[in-house]
Amino acid sequence: MINWRIEEEGFDQERISSHGNKFLVGNGYLGLRGTLPEYEKEEYVAVNLAGIYDQVGEGWREPLNAPNGLYTFVEVNNVEYRLPEVEPDTHKISLDYRHGIFERSTTWMTTAGILGINAQRFASMRDKHLICMSYTLCVEQDAQIVLSTGIDTRVWDINGPHYDEFMLESGTGNHGMHDMLQVIGITHESKDQVCVCEGIYTDFPVNQEITEVDQILLRKLFFTAKAGAQYQLLKYISVYTSKDDTDFANLGIELVYKAKQAGYESELKAQIEQWEKLWSISEVIIDGDDEAMEALNYSLYHLHCIAPRHTDQLSIAARGLSGQTYKGAVFWDTEMFMLDFFLLTEPTVAKTLLKYRIDTLEGAKKKAKNYGYQGAFYAWESQEGGYDACSDYNVTDVFTGRQMRTYFKDKQIHISAAIAYGIMRYVNYTGSNELLAEGGAEVIIECARFYHDLLLQKVSGGPYELHDVIGPDEYHERVNNNAYTNRMAKFTFESAILILTDVSHKDSRLEESLKGSYDINQLLAEFTDAARTLYVPEPKESSGIIEQFDGYFGLEDISIESLKERLLHEKEYWGGAYGIATHTKVIKQADVVTMLNLFSQDYDEEILLQNWKYYEPRTEHGSSLSACMYAILACKCHMPDQAYPFFMKSALSDISGKGKEWAGLIYIGGTHPASSGGAYMTAIEGFAGIHQEHGQLKAMPCLPSTWNGMSFHIMYHGELYHVKVTKEDTQITNLGTPK
Ligand code: BGC
Repeated sequence: MINWRIEEEGFDQERISSHGNKFLVGNGYLGLRGTLPEYEKEEYVAVNLAGIYDQVGEGWREPLNAPNGLYTFVEVNNVEYRLPEVEPDTHKISLDYRHGIFERSTTWMTTAGILGINAQRFASMRDKHLICMSYTLCVEQDAQIVLSTGIDTRVWDINGPHYDEFMLESGTGNHGMHDMLQVIGITHESKDQVCVCEGIYTDFPVNQEITEVDQILLRKLFFTAKAGAQYQLLKYISVYTSKDDTDFANLGIELVYKAKQAGYESELKAQIEQWEKLWSISEVIIDGDDEAMEALNYSLYHLHCIAPRHTDQLSIAARGLSGQTYKGAVFWDTEMFMLDFFLLTEPTVAKTLLKYRIDTLEGAKKKAKNYGYQGAFYAWESQEGGYDACSDYNVTDVFTGRQMRTYFKDKQIHISAAIAYGIMRYVNYTGSNELLAEGGAEVIIECARFYHDLLLQKVSGGPYELHDVIGPDEYHERVNNNAYTNRMAKFTFESAILILTDVSHKDSRLEESLKGSYDINQLLAEFTDAARTLYVPEPKESSGIIEQFDGYFGLEDISIESLKERLLHEKEYWGGAYGIATHTKVIKQADVVTMLNLFSQDYDEEILLQNWKYYEPRTEHGSSLSACMYAILACKCHMPDQAYPFFMKSALSDISGKGKEWAGLIYIGGTHPASSGGAYMTAIEGFAGIHQEHGQLKAMPCLPSTWNGMSFHIMYHGELYHVKVTKEDTQITNLGTPK
């Protein structure tokens, strides 16, 4: 039996930020960091909202955090007891990650003996706009209690403040507000409105006073607590924005009213049922390794918390819903690392993620045009409409405090191919061309047109090349013929050709619509020539190693340990113009190895192995996207025990709370959904070896020596399969179309 609860005993101020990530709850609409009810913005409280952004001045455009409707603290005989200010006697926080329920229990010694507080909360998976909290207190001796609870508008921002103004309102029936508090924040850039409404219930009499202190709309509940009795406050909070509905303010009130009527227990029951439904398909059972099973399912928990199920217009940000890090923007992380989990367990979510790219095609075309190219160049850091939030200066130099010019936005052209790859993967795993007909075909063709326009050829002839790019390894900027990028561009051409021939011939509507927009014969001629003539670096005959980019082999070969000795500052950036890695073979993350994973069928196993062995010691794994690629390729080389530590690194990236928090002077703390998705891919596609063969689902297990077996469900071509693999046996059972 695995433990579906993680716990932390004792209070440590240093861990407030990492606990915020580790104990996060969320439902795809919002993420609630694992902070305590009495915390304020200094403790990185965030009710992080999906898909709504704001920019102030020259600061980075970032997603909004809503006012905090959970805000609650207690006074006993006129003294406040709250963390981090007052040292507790005992303190524990926990997360039931099977059901997305966060709990805290704390005791302090007071003038009325021991004060105990137990609080529980969840972001409702049934109604994505609802948060519920139960807050219970008990004192050892009779005492005068003031329980303060309300909505805190002093929101934590990295580049804020994002609200120009707040409208605070409280009502007692006459506003139709049924004793509720409501705060509406108006954002700076687009004057969007974010509305938080709260209602409470106590089963004991209180005197209530509503006040506004320091931008907090607060109710103070006064009562005399009897020794040893439990006093429970139930709190229902709704969050809506003007982007959800024009009637957002009333919807917020109605939802709180409805939840109060239904009651906490009923909402809790619904929460448990909803999560059980998700696990009935997505749980992965590992026989023989509880630690791995816990870490993996905890990773899947985080993916569930950020899946956009309430809309078909959103994707997932690189740091999920854990805050404003990385500007709440969507990176290649989604298609290349997270997509498979949804594709194999909840294809409707996978479709939503890809539909976001179809919806933002115009933004991608605009970006290409701005650089003077045709086709679609997707945003490296995509916000709504495909707006590229990536700044020209993404790193601050620790020595001068000046911003460093980075070229991620301009040169990571592999982003467009990642989208083409995601769409084709969806088509292959669902067995349906519907996404292509709904705009996916156009996306792929436009991405291919972009790469076509970028091709270079010497006047004297020779192959086409792609110059001045950045591959996945961001430490080496502006290189020529990055193997990963060139191979992915080739894949995009091949996919476009497939669509223009095979797929469109089978779908007359698609064929007609493509004919209306393109000269098909000309495109086919261009893409066929491009796919055939594009240079993709091959394994060197002598060593079998593929050169990551032109000139890589000539760089200084130095171990990571020795390179580290050259650091002058612990937060110094390794890449860029004069980073310590720039002139060496040390790379940030899997690059050639990522390419070999995606196209392993094109290479002999010996080549895969040689490249794994060559690049691994030269990889810093400075990105959480790296380890899983080494894990999967190790499985493809039949080295499950070498894959295992890389798998665990990916699966543990959030549970360990040891994620990297700084890039130069920029805060990059948060959850790591790409790493979670990578752990899933390693388990399912690496250890269990799930793959397609002639349209059939197959497994080719390669289990770590300590594992006896694995079992899980996956969706394939619209049907649900149960897969059970052991070292001796493989069973794949078709359970039919799920209801
Ligand atoms: C990595 C990128 C990744 C981004 C967001 C960077 O550190 O190098 O590959 O897309 O983080 O996760």
